Amino acid sequence: MSFDFDLLVLGAGSGGVAASRRAAAHGARVAVVEGSRVGGTCVIRGCVPKKLLMYAAQYGDALREAPGYGWLVGETRFEMARWAASKAAETQRLEGVYRKLLAGSGVELIEGWARVVGPHRAVVGERTLSAQHLLIATGASPVLDSIPGIEHCATSDGLLDLSALPERAAVVGGGYIATEFASMLARLGVEVSQFYRDRLPLRGFDEDLRRRAAAALQAAGIALHPGAAPVGVHTDGPGLALELADGSRLAFPFVLNATGRRPNTHGLGLETLGLTLGAKGAVPVDGACRTPAPGVYAIGDATDRKNLTPVAIAEGRALADSLFGSTPRAVDLSLVASAVFLLPPIATVGPTEAEALAAGHALNVFEADFRPMRQTFFGGAERSYMKLLVDAASDRVLAVHMLGADAPEIVQSLAVALNCGATKAQFDRTIAVHPTVAEEFVLMREPARRALPSQA
Ligand code: NDP
Repeated sequence: MSFDFDLLVLGAGSGGVAASRRAAAHGARVAVVEGSRVGGTCVIRGCVPKKLLMYAAQYGDALREAPGYGWLVGETRFEMARWAASKAAETQRLEGVYRKLLAGSGVELIEGWARVVGPHRAVVGERTLSAQHLLIATGASPVLDSIPGIEHCATSDGLLDLSALPERAAVVGGGYIATEFASMLARLGVEVSQFYRDRLPLRGFDEDLRRRAAAALQAAGIALHPGAAPVGVHTDGPGLALELADGSRLAFPFVLNATGRRPNTHGLGLETLGLTLGAKGAVPVDGACRTPAPGVYAIGDATDRKNLTPVAIAEGRALADSLFGSTPRAVDLSLVASAVFLLPPIATVGPTEAEALAAGHALNVFEADFRPMRQTFFGGAERSYMKLLVDAASDRVLAVHMLGADAPEIVQSLAVALNCGATKAQFDRTIAVHPTVAEEFVLMREPARRALPSQA
């Protein structure tokens, strides 16, 4: 049977583009279908614009700190409209880069929304396409039904497109997006209240980071409302009112819904392939991104596993190598570093202390908690926290956790050492780069405490 393409990719986000280009590099005939902007969530409405807004917030910090370093600073203010114009230009530039990369790789870009109509076949507008392999890389989008009325709230997509910031805002949720945006908004001068249902933000992260993240959010002036997820959201004049479990209503001119994301699989026609989707709409896959339907694969947020851009990219490339290269391979997701860009940021690789103990490790826990030189010089209060979890039996460093300036940059490098199986003795043998914050990770001599595995 002959097909129009060897590989048809649904979704030109980071994962889909990476898979398409790698497959084309192996000589495959590839098309990628995209109904929205090329580049997907990360480039257009996620990681990239979010980080650009974080940089804007950091400039505010720098301006406030500058007098302590001898600078005389005049009147300053943040104008969201200026940032928004620069952001729009930058995302457009990046979209152009992605389009060029696809074209330069020989991948056909088909613009429109695809619907699968049976094995090996999909329809885009008037066009029916056939392909030997089908890759679902359609990503995810904000959940709009987590709480009655939550659909009235803005999502991070809308927030990043604002031309003016509100004076007050509520953030609903305690995860990555909620915490990052609460932190950035507060630094940009918005009076922020954050509502989440657990006792601390960032469920799933190490407890020591979660406590310090909450303290950092409070230090930025954010009113935290733990254990207080709204039970309803109501329109209230030009703004919104959050209804809490005790019946009280709190009015805000702006509310950010950051209660999670859900795979973009609805209406794709995946039922014609006999696929049963997960509860949130996730496409079921094995460790090699194969679905139970022959010739059908899925990567990235559409599978709702580790919803991180670099994971989707790695999965896409591994799949393309497996299908069209000479050595099939899967991606090892056991030690994936990640960061939460609140200010100061969190970065982490490896299990939490609770997870390591539950897995049966006796631990030597090394910690450092200090005000870095940059803060002490101008009298700032911001601290850095660093933690190593070391398996007491093997001396292997199991995890690195950090909250503090530059944590993502530092932990990215240490993730290499952990993936190489580094021991604490090897950390100790490493000569420090001085004066840095990172050097603390090779200067921790005595464990702060020892911890024994939890009893099953
Ligand atoms: P998260 O899963 O991180 O957080 C969702 C939040 O919504 C949690 O606090 C959750 O509470 C809360 N929530 C869910 N349902 C309800 C409900 N019915 N009522 C009240 N609260 C609710 O999702 P995000 O949308 O923040 O981010 C999506 C994913 O995108 C992340 O998991 C991450 O993988 C990725 N991402 C990564 C970033 C990075 O790498 N820096 C940045 C942004 C996103 P609870 O904890 O109680 O369940």
